[in-house]
Formats: sequence, C-alpha cells, structure tokens
Amino acid sequence: MKYINEEKINNVLVDMAKFDSRRLDVILDKAKSLQRLTLEESAVLLSVENPEYVQRIFKAASFVKDTIYGRRVVLFAPIYISNLCANNCSYCAFKSDNQLIKRKALDAPEIRNQTEWLLNRGHKRILMVCGEAAPGGKSNVDYYTEAVRAIYAAGVGKNKIKRVNVNCAPLSVGDFEKLKSSGIGTYQIFQESYHHQTYLRMHPEGPKSDPDNRIGAIDRAFKAGIDDIGIGVLYGLFDWRFETLGLLSHIEHMEESLGVGPHTISVPRIEPAEGVEMSSNPPYKLTDEDFKKVVAVLRLSVPYTGIIMSTRESAQMRDSLLNLGVSQISAESNTSPGGYSSGKEEQEGMTAEKAGMTAEKAGMTAEKAGMTAEKAGSQFSLGDHRSLDQIVGALITHDYIPSFCAACYRMERTGENFMQLAKPGTIKGKCSMNALITLKEYLDDFASEPVRMSGYKMITRYFKQLDPLEQERLKLFFAHVDSGVRDEYV
Ligand code: SAM
Ligand code: SF4
Repeated sequence: MKYINEEKINNVLVDMAKFDSRRLDVILDKAKSLQRLTLEESAVLLSVENPEYVQRIFKAASFVKDTIYGRRVVLFAPIYISNLCANNCSYCAFKSDNQLIKRKALDAPEIRNQTEWLLNRGHKRILMVCGEAAPGGKSNVDYYTEAVRAIYAAGVGKNKIKRVNVNCAPLSVGDFEKLKSSGIGTYQIFQESYHHQTYLRMHPEGPKSDPDNRIGAIDRAFKAGIDDIGIGVLYGLFDWRFETLGLLSHIEHMEESLGVGPHTISVPRIEPAEGVEMSSNPPYKLTDEDFKKVVAVLRLSVPYTGIIMSTRESAQMRDSLLNLGVSQISAESNTSPGGYSSGKEEQEGMTAEKAGMTAEKAGMTAEKAGMTAEKAGSQFSLGDHRSLDQIVGALITHDYIPSFCAACYRMERTGENFMQLAKPGTIKGKCSMNALITLKEYLDDFASEPVRMSGYKMITRYFKQLDPLEQERLKLFFAHVDSGVRDEYV
C-alpha cells in the first residue's frame, strides 16, 4: 500500500517491545510538552502492558487533552443519505451482496426533513454519510453536493446547521473541488486497514478494492483545496498495534507531503451489522482495555488532532474515553437512511429513543431494542442510545462543556491555520468561550429543565474562571443570546 512501509512497522513493533520505565517516562515527558511523538516512541507506548505503566499513559493523555482542548466536547450527529453501495466490504451491512437490508437513497426533501428533525433536537453539526452509489443515474459527486446543500438549506426557527462534514467514497480532484464548493467542513475517509493483504481480503469487489486509490484520496482532496481531513482505522480487521502504527505512518506522510496532519482521527470498532456474520465476530477483536490504550496513545502521539468517538460505543465507554483524549462525539445517532423521522416508525413508536424506552419497560435491554429500531437498512448496531439531552446532561455531570461550535471553519481556521493555533494550545481559550456561548443557546432553546439548570450552573462556574476582559466579552454575547440572536462565536 502506498505510503505504508509494513516491514518498518513490524520491525519497530518488535524492537520497541523491550523498554524500561525510564524510557517510558522520557517519552511521556516529551508528550506532555505537546511535542509529536515518533513512530518508535508511539510503538513503545503501544507495547506497555504493566497496569501501573498503563495508568501513567492514561494520566499523561488526560493532561494533554486538557491542555490543548480544555473541557469542551464537540457534539454532532450523522445523517445517512443512502445505503446503496457498489462495494462488498466484508464487515458492512451496506455491502452489495447483502439481501437482508432495505435499500434506500434519500432525495433532497427527505434529507432536509432529516436535518430538521435533528435541528429540533438542538444539533448544529452534521456528518453526512453514504454508500458508494448514487440513485437515479446521478454521478456520486452530484448526489453528495445536492445532499450537502439540502442540509444547509434546512432551518428551524433561527437554527441552521453550521457545519456539514462528509464521510463518502474517494473522488477525483475535480469532483473534490465540486464537493468543496458545496461548503463542506471536514472530508472524512477511513483507510479501514493499513495492512495490505487484509485490505485486499476485506474489500474483494467494487471501486474500494484498490487500496492505493483510497489512501490517495486524501492527497486529491487536499489538492482540491479541502484542508480539513479526517482519517481512521476500522479496528477488528487486523492487529491493533500494527493498525495504529499504520495510521501514524499515514499521518507522517501527510505532514511531510501536505504540510499538515489530519484534523480528526476516528477509531471505529467493528459492530454487529445485519446480514454480515463476520461483524459479530471480527478476526482481531479489540478489547475495551486495549481500546482505551489506543485512544490514549493517539492523544499523546498527535496532540493537536481531534479524536472522534461515535455512538458505536456504549455510554460508559464513551464517558471514560473522554478523559483519555476524545474531543468530539456523536449523539442520538441513527445509521439508517431516513432513520430519524420516518413517519411510519414514529407512529409505531420505533425511533431509536422510543424503542429504548419501550424496551426498558418490557424488561429488554435498550441495546436489543435499538437494534430493532435501526434494522430498516441501518449500517451497524449502536452502543449508545441516549438522547442528545441525556448526553448533554451526562457531559455536564462529568464537568465537560458540551459545544455546538463551528467557529474555526467559519473563521477560516482550517488546515495549517488551525494547526498553528492548536499546536501550542492557544485554541483552548477561544474554544471554551465558543463552547459556553453555544451551550447557552442550546440550553435556552432545547434542553429539558434539569439539564438547563445544571447547564446554567456550569456556565456560571466557568464564567468565574475567565479574566475580566473575557467576562465582559462573554456578557455581551450572552445579552445577544437573551435578546434572541443565535449563532454567535469568536
Ligand atoms: N461508503 C464510504 C466508505 O466506505 O468510505 C463512506 C461511508 S461508510 C458508511 C463509513 C464507515 O463505516 C466506513 O469507513 C467503515 O469504517 C465504517 N463501518 C462499516 N461497517 C461497519 C461496522 N460493521 N461497524 C462499525 N463501523 C463500520
Ligand atoms: Fe459500502 Fe462504505 Fe459499507 Fe463498504 S463500508 S459496503 S463502501 S458503505
């Protein structure tokens, strides 16, 4: 696979497995000074098994996260626009030979509908997701751009979507230019596996079967002017240590050839998918303990890059990973096209949330009920079925500031500009301020009474920590919000 030297990764993993605690401390001190770690240093951290040493890694990761990102956590929701797909990925319910799911591609009004459902819950940031095939003879890029525009066109009162990130198949430079012109934020694409043979085995058919075309997508997107890029590994396909070093090698390539690393890293683990046997029993299952280690090591190795955690993971796991470095989480997700607002599902009381509630009453697990609710063409089953309001409430309880901010993208703090701010940790002040403004907007417009009360208390607490000048500035913003103005940011 282009850019990935498997022999080097294997050698580094063997060589770095032997280390003493002094070497570990030197590496952790370097990470705590917010310097990027080398592949070798990251391999040392990945090799740590002694529970006491693992705790040292966790503590350092938590320090780095707090130093760069403060206490804020950005919230978003995915919109699945289509599950039509020309590929046959061995782990995904959208794979072309899966006869068990209902296929559906949303049109622009349906996409707008989905968006308004999410706006009504309080969401402001969307990740648009789809399979690799467009309906009605359209080209992929035309379908994607139409969808992005439909999402931005949606509105509920004064509330609009501020940022649409996109997770879609690789495109040519020209098509990426078209996608960029629709106003996307981050372009996200996961290499799935950095191990060549595994990649080929898992992607037997369709355009995705060429690993070099996939890894090259990031260079093409960049060439087209998209400088916020999200990358990721699908954990469970191959050895997690190898995959993590593969991802870090890819980042080194980006830094060397594009001059900027990824904006975000995603760390999905394979979840059970309807009609896909392998997904319930992945060949290299990543345990919860090793998963925490992966997140912590990524936080230390690439300190300036956001880490995204989806609702694939349980509420408990997500809460504990926030402390180790996760900076963005999805909330109240559904992985089925039309899954949020299908009138039929609502009539039957089958939205994911309602299904969870019904199930609890019936003594079933929320997870099982969630799976039933998502079945109509969903990509995989979810681990966290809480509503946005419940997630916001839990974040506040754990002293994290829920943020609906998209200021960086709008102020053109993207790509290299963002990195310059993020690297020395200077983005933290702006982020906290924007988090508090957007939190107040959310609390005023959407929160339940208990969440609103605890949120206001949080705002007061954090307000007191600001210097007098920032306090004056924030007061002014809050007065605007009180008078009905929305979408304020610095
Ligand atoms: N179809 C495009 C692609 O494959 O790049 C974009 C969207 S795809 C729906 C988004 C991601 O879902 C994939 O990159 C893959 O990592 C992840 N995924 C697929 N099947 C999964 C499963 N069973 N569990 C967890 N994540 C899965
Ligand atoms: Fe299609 Fe993406 Fe699923 Fe593969 S992972 S089958 S490309 S939707």
